[in-house]
Amino acid sequence: MSFIRSNVHTHTLFCDGLDTMEDMIISAVKNNYDTLGFSFHSYVCFDTDNCIKSYPSYIEEYKRLKVLYENEINLLNGVELDLFGEKPDNYDFIIGSVHYFNEGGKFYSVDYSRKDFKKTVDSVFNGNVYKAIEAYYLEVEYMINNLKPDIIGHFDLITRFNKNNDFFDENSYEYKKILEKTLLNIPDYKTAEINLGRFIKGEGDIYPSQNLLSMLNEKHFKFMLSLDAHRKEVFSFDFKEIIKRLKQSNIKSLCCYKGNNLVDFEI
Ligand SMILES: [Zn+2]
Ligand SMILES: [Zn+2]
Repeated sequence: MSFIRSNVHTHTLFCDGLDTMEDMIISAVKNNYDTLGFSFHSYVCFDTDNCIKSYPSYIEEYKRLKVLYENEINLLNGVELDLFGEKPDNYDFIIGSVHYFNEGGKFYSVDYSRKDFKKTVDSVFNGNVYKAIEAYYLEVEYMINNLKPDIIGHFDLITRFNKNNDFFDENSYEYKKILEKTLLNIPDYKTAEINLGRFIKGEGDIYPSQNLLSMLNEKHFKFMLSLDAHRKEVFSFDFKEIIKRLKQSNIKSLCCYKGNNLVDFEI
């Protein structure tokens, strides 16, 4: 099977996206997408600015658009379920993600801003970034084993502000050791996204990093391309260079949703 334009990591005005659901659909159709899945941020009581605003209005709008665009694109109703988020009643797929540290009963964002991340490392982890990394990956491990998501979202979000290894050396022995321990404690053959959100914004590389990607590949993980779309323009993204790079990393196939079916295709 050849390359399929499909994206199931899509945010809209119902959470922290910048465009309406309908505008996202129109842009995806214009760019020849076969399948578009919506994945709002699940409800968390401590970060109501970024999570789903009103689930009933969301689902009503989704149902209206699903009928309206049924001849143009396959729409799916998914969720980006945070480790601490509320699981909705109905969904076509779950992207499981970790966005917060939970320390001493309080929640701190992993990816809100660089300044905020530094403050958290300093005040919560006594300035020891490796303690923050360990805490993050313990949550990732717990999330994978307990939420059992269909897709693992941005596996190494902890690197969000680590451009130029500003906070820690991603090639260091310490970091590799933490990754190895995490991978030992989760099953093989899972599906992880290759999340292009940060890369498309020009703020850093893809998730997972090159090292982690190879480690997951050795664990027979499947990979799914994901725009982590927050605005309609990203559907014009050209995947050619990324695919070339993935091939060089010895990745032979990718998977995606084609309608409700999860399918593999060679690259
Ligand atoms: Zn996320
Ligand atoms: Zn997202």
